Amino acid sequence: MTDSCIFCRIARKEIPSNIVYEDANVLAFRDLSPQAPTHVLVIPKRHVASLDDLVDADALLLGAMMLTAKRVAAAEGLASGFRVVTNCGADAGQSVSHVHLHVLGGRPMAWPPG
Ligand code: AMP
Repeated sequence: MTDSCIFCRIARKEIPSNIVYEDANVLAFRDLSPQAPTHVLVIPKRHVASLDDLVDADALLLGAMMLTAKRVAAAEGLASGFRVVTNCGADAGQSVSHVHLHVLGGRPMAWPPG
């Protein structure tokens, strides 16, 4: 946990968020600026800056995040498909330095992404 990280503060419930799933290690909440009818962020409660900062010992945590993404998609009724994205670093457009999965769905999506 860090004092200044906005997602750590959301995990600590210091900042309000629209939570759709929570367990001991993972939190999922709706993105403030949705890019699709469903846009949920999945984060580890523990502070990790980006995918690049995860290590072998985090394999279970990363698996739990992906399974949470799947559960969120099912709960949101995204039976016709959904996309899971993580932006890692400046070139990818990562704007919050706390690793997160975007779960997007509810509309057709283009490929490749911009
Ligand atoms: P990224 O640009 O991949 O780092 O994604 C960060 C995401 O966090 C963006 O989609 C923002 O809209 C979202 N975001 C930033 N602050 C909040 C917040 N307080 N609550 C929910 N989503 C947020």
